[in-house]
Amino acid sequence: MKYSRLSPIVTQKNSKLVRIDSEKSSRSPLFGLDAAELAAVVVGAGEPAFRGRQLAQALYRQRVADLDAITTLSKPLRQRLAAEGWQVGRPGIAQVFQSVDGTERYLVGCGGADGLTVETVWMPEGDGGEAGDGSGIEAEGAEANVSGSRTRATICVSSQVGCAVNCQFCLTAKLGLQRNLSAGEIAGQVVSVLDRHSVEVGRERVNLVFMGMGEPFLNYANFMGAVRLLVNEVGLSPQRMTVSTSGIVSGIEQFALEPPEVRPKLAISLNAPNDKVRSQVMPINRKWPIETVMDAVRKVKLRPRERVTFEYVLLGGVTDSEEQAREVGRLVRRTGLAAKVNLIAWNPGPGIPYEMPEAGAVDRFRVALGAEGIPVYVRRPRGRDIFAACGQLKRTVEDRPGVTSTK
Ligand code: SF4
Repeated sequence: MKYSRLSPIVTQKNSKLVRIDSEKSSRSPLFGLDAAELAAVVVGAGEPAFRGRQLAQALYRQRVADLDAITTLSKPLRQRLAAEGWQVGRPGIAQVFQSVDGTERYLVGCGGADGLTVETVWMPEGDGGEAGDGSGIEAEGAEANVSGSRTRATICVSSQVGCAVNCQFCLTAKLGLQRNLSAGEIAGQVVSVLDRHSVEVGRERVNLVFMGMGEPFLNYANFMGAVRLLVNEVGLSPQRMTVSTSGIVSGIEQFALEPPEVRPKLAISLNAPNDKVRSQVMPINRKWPIETVMDAVRKVKLRPRERVTFEYVLLGGVTDSEEQAREVGRLVRRTGLAAKVNLIAWNPGPGIPYEMPEAGAVDRFRVALGAEGIPVYVRRPRGRDIFAACGQLKRTVEDRPGVTSTK
């Protein structure tokens, strides 16, 4: 039984579950424990193990956020759990910023004693980055009949508070790494947003992208713990999830060992046509250069029709020329991988010394790359006006003109 870093420490002692709070004064979250772990909790409270399944249903399917409201459990059991120091403890949305394009950016309170928040983004119509396995094209018409405008929604999820990777174009990098999120804190962002939008899991198509604050593969165990919760307990499909890494080779190699039933799709944040430029914009490239990353990616066994995504941020005058597009094409072809490229025009952020691509540059890049035979998509910038777009997540709390903020 494995517990994430911020979950309560639970040990088996004399066959009895003993809970030791990591923080004396705070209650311990049930949210973040899987069905087997919840069963151990209720057995420890003197109840049969099947109550753990009921508890999991309430937390992850019915999305109940208050222990006292879990009416499938008897009142005495709820009282006993509360008396033992348990609470639901799901991360909650503390503040909402609404963009004119329908995108919402949330400050999500992690619930820890440190009071830290992370950012999560809801894009009601995705961002144009095609699903990568062909499903985005064939499912579009069919699913529009089921649930209308919400069928292509995408939730962008954070995996760490801040980030240590230091990509030069990214606002989150300015925070440095403050701490890892637990599995419950990562999955809790998703469940809170699903709840806010009353999403019916299984009926409505929602994509998850682990592309928010942080580098998921530098918080690997908790990131994959969250994926398992979201797949096994919440009921989301791993084929609708994409994790993006800056190229953490040790993480990619671990990822290659995951069973396909719980493995999201893989995206590599490439952002440059060669090592020289990539090392300038992404210093992590000095540790793991492009070929080393590609060697690791080739170890990931793809599902039928699955493709690896290469994310490519276009920095004006730095990575956006047509010659660089052709070089990216040759690079991707050389990998021999089933792949596609998502282009993202760089989103400006205060204190970041880059320019947006000039008008027409993104399209010229797309055409030149496409001519190399590489499937290429342009991701529409979403929520730029509320600092919700790629690379803009920095727990920006100040209101700006035209931005609606609600609590
Ligand atoms: S782009 Fe991603 S990996 Fe790079 S610094 Fe920003 S959050 Fe970290």
